Amino acid sequence: MTTPRPETLAKLTPVLTKRWLSPDAWRIGTYEQLDGYAALRKALKAHPDDLIQLIKDSGLRGRGGAGFPTGLKWGFIPQGDGKPHYLVVNADEGEPGTCKDLPLMTHDPHALVEGVIIASYAIRAARAYIYIRGEAVHAARRLRNAVQEAYDKGYLGRNILRSGYDLELVVHSGAGAYICGEETALLDSLEGFRGQPRLRPPFPATHGLYASPTVVNNVGTIASVPPIVLGGADWWKSMGTEKSSGPMIYSLSGRVANPGQYECSMGVTLRELLELAGGMQPGHNLRFWTPGGSSTPLLAAEHLDVPLDFEGVAAAGSILGTTATQIFSDQDCPVYATYRWLEFYHHESCGKCTPCREGNYWMVRVYRRILAGQGTHEDLDTLLDTCDNILGRSFCGLGDGATSSVTSSLQYFKQDYLDYIEGRTAPKLSEKTLVGA
Ligand code: SF4
Repeated sequence: MTTPRPETLAKLTPVLTKRWLSPDAWRIGTYEQLDGYAALRKALKAHPDDLIQLIKDSGLRGRGGAGFPTGLKWGFIPQGDGKPHYLVVNADEGEPGTCKDLPLMTHDPHALVEGVIIASYAIRAARAYIYIRGEAVHAARRLRNAVQEAYDKGYLGRNILRSGYDLELVVHSGAGAYICGEETALLDSLEGFRGQPRLRPPFPATHGLYASPTVVNNVGTIASVPPIVLGGADWWKSMGTEKSSGPMIYSLSGRVANPGQYECSMGVTLRELLELAGGMQPGHNLRFWTPGGSSTPLLAAEHLDVPLDFEGVAAAGSILGTTATQIFSDQDCPVYATYRWLEFYHHESCGKCTPCREGNYWMVRVYRRILAGQGTHEDLDTLLDTCDNILGRSFCGLGDGATSSVTSSLQYFKQDYLDYIEGRTAPKLSEKTLVGA
């Protein structure tokens, strides 16, 4: 196991994770002792428009994958329209490999609750929802407990801290459908309908929850708001890069010595993250990895020094996504890994549009054939052709994301496919998997 050098340790910038190791950090008493709710007191003395400007000045970008500027999104909410406004927190974390929001809600739920109150005040919302993944029972319990504690202390409800501002906050558990992480499907689900994406425009900023102006933000985005209010935009921008400001929680999993969450300034490289995580597991050498979950194109060992910010990863041909950094070694098979991800997308496709519903179904069949030793060279063309017909033609991002590992694994690891097709690699699946595939 490698020991990180001091200059690499300096890349760690614990902001959202700084309380995680404190005993009982999820209780309101501990949170208050560690600066908790100080940002809310400060924010309630400011004009809501000034808070929106502060978030714009900080350069904060959404932590859910798309990286959209948060202050700009808040600024889209029309004012003086006489309609109710809503803040909805997307806590439906379900992307394979992604595990930054659930630990945040488990270890430090008040950071999210405080961020919700400030953000709601800024967009003039009187009601907010946290939509949490149905399987995340423990995190939901912690969150509900934190919300009750906040009500009991006067941080939620009527006339918050005697400011005249009222806010009701509801924690809503979903039913475990990955598609409900897509913001308009989430809104449909929250309204009690089947969770499927909506046609846009109109956008949630004007026609969101109950056809009213709505901001949908990720957990990490909202939890970043209190530290920005306390520390200021310049402090936030002192971390990260010019266009990707602030710290980011990178989730390392797979063949790494110490998997877990590492919060670093944006722009850190995988080489540095691996050093912080003690290196690869003994006997394993890096072969491929995802920079931001299974919906992002794979990168290879040659990309160790790519800056992990929005622009750096895009320049390398991938997407920063959810910063779920899944590490695979020379003992892992990119064809099999891609097949497993495709099984996931096939299962989670909501079925609304043909390219994603049918395309993923057929690609899973082709992969099973290749992995059972019955693939043909034409199968590789079929895969690329299918991806061509899914990418940009699907109703939402799930379809596009499903193609990422297929096209990138064929770009970097075509020989692995050929080894199955030409009989040099033993089949990984039995022929039985082809029956009814
Ligand atoms: Fe549903 Fe897939 Fe179409 Fe998205 S791309 S709407 S998940 S079928």
